[in-house]
Amino acid sequence: MKKLILIAVAVMNALLLMGQNAPLQSDVRPLIGVSCSHPGNNSSTRMTYTNSVIKAGGTPVLIPVTTDSVVLKDILDRVDGLLLIGGGDIHPSYYGEEAVPELGEVDSLRDVYDIALIQMAHDMKMPMFGVCRGEQLINVAFGGTLYQDIPSQHPDTTIRHRQKEPGIEATHCVGFVEGSILGDVIGQKELMTNSFHHQAVKDIAPGFRISAWSLDSIPEAIESAEGKPIWGVQFHPEYQTDNGDEVSARFFYFFLEEANKYRLQKVRKQVINKFQGIGRKVQLK
Ligand code: MN
Repeated sequence: MKKLILIAVAVMNALLLMGQNAPLQSDVRPLIGVSCSHPGNNSSTRMTYTNSVIKAGGTPVLIPVTTDSVVLKDILDRVDGLLLIGGGDIHPSYYGEEAVPELGEVDSLRDVYDIALIQMAHDMKMPMFGVCRGEQLINVAFGGTLYQDIPSQHPDTTIRHRQKEPGIEATHCVGFVEGSILGDVIGQKELMTNSFHHQAVKDIAPGFRISAWSLDSIPEAIESAEGKPIWGVQFHPEYQTDNGDEVSARFFYFFLEEANKYRLQKVRKQVINKFQGIGRKVQLK
């Protein structure tokens, strides 16, 4: 009997992992809100992000850069997941520090916009996946801190985290923490990644844990330690995903699976509300 249960658990685990190794198969494609930057006053995002969402079985919707919280909430009400893209530095005032001389360019409009999106999506229990700046912002929004500049603040670093090669080139190794969700998603202990950052997670936010490290002890991925659907990576798997790499694509396959669960829950709630509404009408008569 015990053996049978063990086999059943193994099969279930294999099926769960299989689900993450392929694009989402669903009649309805979940809508994924993709955050934007605003170069030259244009709200825009790189196509590697939107292509990764499309490849994983979702439909991307760009969220224009605005600080109008009513509009941002209106968009989030209609999507099933939030993808937070990369970008410049976050102002250290968000984690109670003065700016060091090595801090790069900050963008107060995007800081307000991105943090508003994270807080609203969290209130809605919506799955969110942060890439690079997106990952750092998740950590800051939940009370963590950052290295404002790795070379000057983390003297032990021995790895080049700001590569000059294009994004499809992987330049350093990332090791996943055993038992971490993102480690399970990727299904291997190590992954060669690209690296385009001079900031990184320093103190992990309460309720979160580090799921991957570089070999010189820089946090390279984070996830909720409380079962919330929130994950982030310091590297850019969307380049490899868009370039046909099936391992990096697992992050997006997993994200779309979770977004689809959220979508189905939303549909269920709408049906229940509808029936309760009919019940009330009948009672009034
Ligand atoms: Mn790195």
